[in-house]
Amino acid sequence: MPLNPLEKIIKKEALSGNGLTLARFMDLALAHPKHGYYMKKDPLGRAGDFITAPEVSQLFGEILGVWAADLWMKMGAPECFTLLECGPGRGTLMSDLSRATKNIKGFHEAAQIHLLEISPVLKNKQAETLRGYNPRWHNSLETLPEGQPIIVIANEFLDALPVHQLQKDSQGDWREVNVIWDDKNGFEYALKEADKNLINNLPFHIQNASPGRVFEIAPVRSRFVENLGALLQKNTGGVLFIDYGHTRSGVGDTFQALKNNAYANPLEHIGEADLTSHVDFEALVHAAQGMDLNVCGPIGQGTFLRNLGINLRARMLLQSADAQQAEMLEKGLHRLIYSRQMGELFKVLYIGSTHEPDGQNQPAGFV
Ligand code: SAH
Repeated sequence: MPLNPLEKIIKKEALSGNGLTLARFMDLALAHPKHGYYMKKDPLGRAGDFITAPEVSQLFGEILGVWAADLWMKMGAPECFTLLECGPGRGTLMSDLSRATKNIKGFHEAAQIHLLEISPVLKNKQAETLRGYNPRWHNSLETLPEGQPIIVIANEFLDALPVHQLQKDSQGDWREVNVIWDDKNGFEYALKEADKNLINNLPFHIQNASPGRVFEIAPVRSRFVENLGALLQKNTGGVLFIDYGHTRSGVGDTFQALKNNAYANPLEHIGEADLTSHVDFEALVHAAQGMDLNVCGPIGQGTFLRNLGINLRARMLLQSADAQQAEMLEKGLHRLIYSRQMGELFKVLYIGSTHEPDGQNQPAGFV
């Protein structure tokens, strides 16, 4: 099969060096400024490649609205604050959140909506969905307003940031999974010498893993948490991360490609499939704990949403729903909270400043 323009770029880079680390490969495949997956199309929904919680049900964004408004009040209801969403997709979560908080006195006047987004296609969608809310877009955290309280929500954002894979070889040494080009087989995986920094940062209980085991490590994700953490050291506020992943760091290969709502081979149709890996929440907690921040969770998404009253909210909406709407609501609720669906695999982690007004307030949902 002829190579697409991005595959040609990756092949060239693989041949000029010693292959590409999986993280470099993922970065190019997803975020190459011209040909990357996120540059070209809307990946979400049934007609796209994958479906996320806000697209499953309006209940998700509405409940997060209640959560955010509660945190805002615990922060002393500041008159002006940054409400940031990282990777807002189609803007559905922010739109549902905004609708659900309409009647909370002062909240809308105080909230300045900021969106961290790289996809031009999704930016357009977000502008449409959030018309009337005057959002501002950013390519990095650096351009956010300084010196004001901040509430951040990131749903299925971290899983899209690049990950490295280390694998123990038969000699018992950690090596790094690279993507190489082979004239006969095309793109394939090969083990190469691993960056010492990655090996030095392996959790203690992983170091003795047996030969063949894979460990995924994502310094970019930890750095992202640290950068938000630095904001929270200066300003009152909190960040909610929601993603699929594991509570404890563990071995396992979770790197995956999704195309048309089905698993695909990550080395085929490069730039046309979504690439992700599970989030190692222990690594994020570790990053935050070094910074004197308030950490809650991770807990399962199902537990979190139940604690915040999602069942009650669903029952309220059911009262005025027709048969078709009722079926959708119930299906959506089930998918969000049931353990075999998104309820357990998806985790929620909160990282907050330690200087809330009374120093005691914890975010809702974690009890
Ligand atoms: N939160 C949304 C979308 C999840 S998909 C939802 O739940 O429906 C991942 C989102 O992150 C997309 O909006 C994508 O364009 C964005 N994204 C991916 N990598 C990014 C990066 N490096 N910087 C900013 N946004 C990014």
